[in-house]
Amino acid sequence: MAQQRVPPTPNNFHLWFKYSLGSASDLKRAVDILVSNKRKFDKTTNQALFDTYIGQQGTEAAVVHKVSQQLHGVMDSAKNYLTAAIADNRTHMEAIDGVAERSEQGVDPKILIENLVSELAQATARAAKLEASFAEKSRELDTIRDSLNRSEQRARTDTLTGLPNRRALEEFFRHVQIESMERDEPLSILLIDVDHFKKFNDNYGHGVGDQVLRLVAKALRERVREKDLPARYGGEELIAVLPQTDLEGCTAIADRIRRTIADCQFTRRSTGEVLPQITVSIGVGQFQFGESMADLIDRCDRALYLAKKLGRNRVVTELELDRKLAVG
Ligand code: GH3
Ligand code: MG
Ligand code: MG
Repeated sequence: MAQQRVPPTPNNFHLWFKYSLGSASDLKRAVDILVSNKRKFDKTTNQALFDTYIGQQGTEAAVVHKVSQQLHGVMDSAKNYLTAAIADNRTHMEAIDGVAERSEQGVDPKILIENLVSELAQATARAAKLEASFAEKSRELDTIRDSLNRSEQRARTDTLTGLPNRRALEEFFRHVQIESMERDEPLSILLIDVDHFKKFNDNYGHGVGDQVLRLVAKALRERVREKDLPARYGGEELIAVLPQTDLEGCTAIADRIRRTIADCQFTRRSTGEVLPQITVSIGVGQFQFGESMADLIDRCDRALYLAKKLGRNRVVTELELDRKLAVG
């Protein structure tokens, strides 16, 4: 801490103590990258590191993740053990077989062979039974693993839209922010908010509103790429994290999403009535190395607010925010 001129505050001590333990690999990599890039550990960076790696967020998810990883580990070793046991049995049987063959050349092979054959038969029967019960256990383990995977999946999915939820978003971001810093690649976020949605709900009811939100989510999902993560951020706000994408690239994708939604004709399912045009506003920002997701989203949120002020149905980036601030 002294080398990096990190002020000795309780939060910084907490962070650097965890760093020195070396058990939190994400934190260790993030700090090492910052050190090797000769970044200053100023107040903002220290706070961002604390929020990202120590703060409230993600602790519950981290525990769930750890438990599930342990379970997967136990299941894997159980399966490996069973597989090895089956292989062992086969080897024993082959050995007995070999002795039986050699004994055929002996002086009085008859009894010996009979014994061996009987032993072999018993061993074969035992092995077959064991193999069947091992196979059954192995299937049981697969079932447990599948149901665990499904419940993990549910815990990461938003029920209304089927998009990944906030927890999934945080996990994904933690992962890609490290990658972005390690590989010196850009990483961007777009934050979407449906325009005048309250009025829409008031006019057509919450159920129709929900339906529209699902379709907006579908448009988002279809317009991002395989490597991106679209998610429901909250209420009628959706978000997408775009790895290996700079502000310009992210803006292009955001505008495609915006146009797709504006061009959609929404109809009321029950009556076929054509609903008024739905539009969205989008704020775009690019990750600055070392910052927290909250800080990046905050810039997207301010860009989004500006998009609303400028008339909605548009994409605004953090650059316009800076210009706006510079102008006053
Ligand atoms: P703006 O263009 O400024 O975003 O206007 P707005 O009315 O969309 O903004 P505001 O944040 O005031 O209202 C958001 C509304 O979104 C409030 C609520 O009625 C609606 N909403 C939030 N979550 C849901 C949801 O899950 N389902 C439905 N149907 N409506 C939602
Ligand atoms: Mg809103
Ligand atoms: Mg809105």
